[in-house]
Amino acid sequence: MPIRVLPQDVAAKIAAGEVIERPSSVVKELIENAIDAGATAVDIRVCRGGRQLVRVADDGCGIPAAEVPLAFARHATSKLRTVDDLTHITTLGFRGEALASIAAVARVTLLTRTADEESGTRLQLEGGHVVRHERCGHPQGTTVIVEDLFYNVPARLKFLRSESTERRHIDDLVTRYAMAYPHLRFSLHHDDRLVFRSPGSGALYDVLIEVYGLETAQLMVAIGDDGEGHIRVSGYIGLPELHRANRQHITLFVNGRWVRDRGLTTAVEQAYHTLLPVRRHPLAVVQVSLPPDEVDVNVHPTKSEVKFRQHNAVFRAVQRSVRATLLTRSPIPEARPMGQGWSEAERPGVEWVEPLPPPTAGQTSQPELPGASPGALPPLRVLGQLAQTYIIAEGPEGMYLIDQHAAHERVLYEKLLAHQTMAEVQIQHLLEPLSVELTPAQAEELETWLEPLHRLGFKVEPFGSHTVLLRALPTFLTHADARQTLLGILDELAAGGEPLADEMDARLAAIACKRGAVKAGQTLSQEEMQALIADLERTASPRTCPHGRPTMITLSRTWMEREFGRG
Ligand code: ADP
Ligand code: MG
Repeated sequence: MPIRVLPQDVAAKIAAGEVIERPSSVVKELIENAIDAGATAVDIRVCRGGRQLVRVADDGCGIPAAEVPLAFARHATSKLRTVDDLTHITTLGFRGEALASIAAVARVTLLTRTADEESGTRLQLEGGHVVRHERCGHPQGTTVIVEDLFYNVPARLKFLRSESTERRHIDDLVTRYAMAYPHLRFSLHHDDRLVFRSPGSGALYDVLIEVYGLETAQLMVAIGDDGEGHIRVSGYIGLPELHRANRQHITLFVNGRWVRDRGLTTAVEQAYHTLLPVRRHPLAVVQVSLPPDEVDVNVHPTKSEVKFRQHNAVFRAVQRSVRATLLTRSPIPEARPMGQGWSEAERPGVEWVEPLPPPTAGQTSQPELPGASPGALPPLRVLGQLAQTYIIAEGPEGMYLIDQHAAHERVLYEKLLAHQTMAEVQIQHLLEPLSVELTPAQAEELETWLEPLHRLGFKVEPFGSHTVLLRALPTFLTHADARQTLLGILDELAAGGEPLADEMDARLAAIACKRGAVKAGQTLSQEEMQALIADLERTASPRTCPHGRPTMITLSRTWMEREFGRG
């Protein structure tokens, strides 16, 4: 094909794609414009996860009638004039691309009025072209209505995820901006249902209560600023007992901009070194402020990444502030200085907990049961427990080292799936229904997973916009904190991406079993170990846990003989 300049509308749609990836991108750009306009209240209304409608109304400065059409021109902005201005950006927007991009891929209506105008302006565009332009009544401020997103970009439309996923992205975004701007009042409606509101009191803590619930907020402490020079660090971090299955709960703002930054996320995590259980992550809201010329915000069209002039200094400031806060504000006796792990003397030792019972004659040479499936286990004789984590057993081929947690996960998982099909999961009713506060994201997740959760034995009912009543849970989970169990499961489900209907039960069961299974570090009696091994022998896939990790390793007799120089 010969080289050709693309028609203008094709070029516009391509450019728009960089800025507007999904409904939450629209919400992001419109919120940023409202904040830049000096709004004190931002109202966000979304229908059908944002595909049908996104409407953002603010009480900011408004756009003068004469400038309204210009606002939709590409690279038209009131926030930047020269290239030099790029070095000290103090607004969230500056590229002049958002409104043009949105207008290229949706039907847009803008209503606006400034303080000194008597009537407002209404401008309506379709596919980037003005279809209506008139005077209208409007309170001071701006309302932007975006309908039928991607109606003219079928390729994009195809890639949109389910409504609940898109809603979740929007929830994440709105709650983040509410945290970054606690003095603004944000409200978010999904399909005419109020799902979130921030009080605008100016206190981040008040927003945290709205986002995470009071119980969680009470486990968070303010960061005592221990920044470096002109780098200031503030926010709230969770005490070590508050941990999550993924890093999504580490929120970072740089000069009021929500950013994703691997380095700074690591800085926060390192500050928790040795304080959290393995593979658990902290909950933190960290605000970094530094002079605008120290940070380049013009790295990515969506402005969600930044570059620091002195990355190491920022990294250190974040890590130190978080660490210092943890050490002074949280009662953690085991806290250790950075970089020092357990000394050799302190390391939990490998010990035999159970005495070895005398071997029973002939048992080791017992043949495998006839008809057993290839993966099936030979009969095993439990010898003892190692490091409160592994069961040592003897089998015909030699020694078996069984991970008690993984083995129990497998047992629970198969029992549960078997029971679910027979609709007879054992459930335990709580004496008093427990009210559990959910974040908007968790509430969305619950909506998606409500039916599978019911099948599994969680009896949950809505109780107000963010609170549910937990009435019962499956018996195998009753030994744990019911609230944390439910919240933990929801978080982990959220991290797993969009489920296919068919895999929902199995995925939920696998996650629940991880919580219900005996943990490493738990002493088991001889009888408990025998019962566990007997149960494991009855499963269809005894050699792996539901997440695919091995439940056991074998040390063969041949190997031992070789190592001992016998063979
Ligand atoms: P940018 O924010 O990068 O300047 P946008 O395309 O988002 O680019 O907006 C273009 C211009 O329209 C802004 O510079 C601003 O002058 C005006 N504008 C957009 N939204 C609002 C709003 N909510 N209130 C006041 N002015 C607005
Ligand atoms: Mg903008």
